[in-house]
Amino acid sequence: MTYPNSEETIKVIKDLVSIPSPSGNTNEVITWVENFLADLNVETKRNRKGGLIATIPGKDNDNHRMLTAHVDTLGAIVKEIKPSGRLKLDLIGGFRYNSIEGEYCQIETSSGKIFTGTILMHQTSVHVYQDAGKAERNQDNMEVRIDEKVHTADQVRELGIEVGDFVSFDPRVQVLPNGYIKSRHLDDKASVGILLQLIKQVATDKIELPYTTHFLISNNEEIGYGGNSNITPETVEYLAVDMGAMGDGQSTDEYTVSICVKDASGPYHYAFRKNLVELAKTNEIGYKLDIYPYYGSDASAAIRSGHDIVHGLIGPGIDSSHAFERTHISSIENTTKLIYHYLLSEMVE
Ligand SMILES: [Zn+2]
Repeated sequence: MTYPNSEETIKVIKDLVSIPSPSGNTNEVITWVENFLADLNVETKRNRKGGLIATIPGKDNDNHRMLTAHVDTLGAIVKEIKPSGRLKLDLIGGFRYNSIEGEYCQIETSSGKIFTGTILMHQTSVHVYQDAGKAERNQDNMEVRIDEKVHTADQVRELGIEVGDFVSFDPRVQVLPNGYIKSRHLDDKASVGILLQLIKQVATDKIELPYTTHFLISNNEEIGYGGNSNITPETVEYLAVDMGAMGDGQSTDEYTVSICVKDASGPYHYAFRKNLVELAKTNEIGYKLDIYPYYGSDASAAIRSGHDIVHGLIGPGIDSSHAFERTHISSIENTTKLIYHYLLSEMVE
């Protein structure tokens, strides 16, 4: 038995977070994943909404498993070109404006041209605006300063920038020698990296899985409907691999795998959860049980859309989620180990 190498997983995660992929504009990152799997001779197919499914046939083909992680991220879209030549944004996904204040960003025009900019409070300069600190961080006050000589809306339009262009945030990824990884979009590209490395291990070691197993790389999770389709009628267990949420009162940390017992959608399948805990205990994997108060996953989206499945949610612990995210290689390692053993385990009775 060999676990995937976590240092290598971190490299995959670094590649993934460096490809802009706000929900609604994920073709480039899905193509990257497609190529990664094609190199392993793992067949994939795309669904109509742009996600990717890899299926590995198992011993039992009457009962299937599905695991999912999402490559779409938070982002924004150009809402308005201001008369000043600055851009007003509309946010994609659930986060606050203060978490992107000062962030470098990239604007992609519909013809594929890329421009860079900075997301700023309109009243940023303290030499000009007295209330700079107190002004509210909201849609009206925040704007994009484009790195071009533009001072009117017309000049911006001449560049090719228009309402509806996607805006993505600089991930500022840093991998530190002591095992921390800091980056935007570790939600949920850390988990996508983990799943890809596991598929690689299964493929290279020619491991026979007990059940036919589908891996869905979903591309609409941040807007609520990523993993609710393409679930075969044979699918019994559905495991979403997505970040564990940290904060006051939370037991999740950056070093263990977080096993979710309940989120805003209600409790996850009890027997399934207990199986995952058993697997963690038997294999001496560091884990935490937790409740995420304001959270929904692709697994709960699948249940809500009417699929009769056993659903679960686990993932690496991510600090300051949907903002300045960070995790540690040990969390990546523990999550990888748990999924590895899960893939080889018997299903819930
Ligand atoms: Zn997520």
